[in-house]
Amino acid sequence: MNRKTFIKTMVPLIAAGPITSFAMKLNTLTKLANQAGKSVKMPVLFLGHGSPMNAIEENEFVTGFRAIATTIPKPTAILCISAHWETRGTFVTAMENPKTIHDFGGFPKALFEVQYPAPGSPELANVTRSLISKTEVGLDDKWGLDHGAWSVIKHLYPKADIPIIQMSLDYTQSPQNHYEIAQQIKSLREKGVLIIGSGNIVHNLRMVSWQRLNDTFGYDWAVEANDQMKKFILNGDHKQLINFRSQGKAFDLAIPTPEHYLPLLYSLGLQDKNDEISIFNDKAVGGSLTMTSVRIG
Ligand code: ZN
Repeated sequence: MNRKTFIKTMVPLIAAGPITSFAMKLNTLTKLANQAGKSVKMPVLFLGHGSPMNAIEENEFVTGFRAIATTIPKPTAILCISAHWETRGTFVTAMENPKTIHDFGGFPKALFEVQYPAPGSPELANVTRSLISKTEVGLDDKWGLDHGAWSVIKHLYPKADIPIIQMSLDYTQSPQNHYEIAQQIKSLREKGVLIIGSGNIVHNLRMVSWQRLNDTFGYDWAVEANDQMKKFILNGDHKQLINFRSQGKAFDLAIPTPEHYLPLLYSLGLQDKNDEISIFNDKAVGGSLTMTSVRIG
């Protein structure tokens, strides 16, 4: 085949490509929504997950997780962006049955025995992948549900009957890119998908008081950073939150590494202009962590 014939052959294929894949995208999304007969727009959550022990302890934060779930329509599926899955490149879990990953050490046996057997959703993984054009999204068959996801979602949906996928944090992307990747999956909200960012906006484990880990107190800088972040969140000032590295000392101490903070940028990227914002579980623990959680919409 000479070059001219090749180009001629390829043109109709290229022209048909986006239309076909767009139609497929719509079909699959509609199917997802119809599964539960939903057309209501879902809110978006950012959940401060804190210690893995929150998975098996009774405390005010767990009560807060349970309470928020009662105010949200039952989702058709959940997409979680967890602080605990960092990769080169963005991936979504695409297996039928994600395993419960116990990605921590030094905790009681009871925590290692927790299983959260929610099904996966290869379908949602494919739709998510096709919605994102800012970066190539890979389908993953090895991860599962890490504790950033299951330790909190088990309190929202204890029956483990809602399909879940995780989306990874690409550590090579800028904060602005993370925010923009999230913007591209906004339409999932209209399809009954509950999107959850799971991290902690103030998270400095090096400075945590291990003796007072269960005490609700925060160091001055932790309270200062948490208050300022809340102000930006409530005012819709996302630019300042994306530029978290230019906010001074309190932010630098609150975010020594970005992985627990970045899920917040995903949640904010999904915000629509008219969404109401509410804050819950707004407390510091162990001095240098805050459990502050956000509901958008
Ligand atoms: Zn964590």
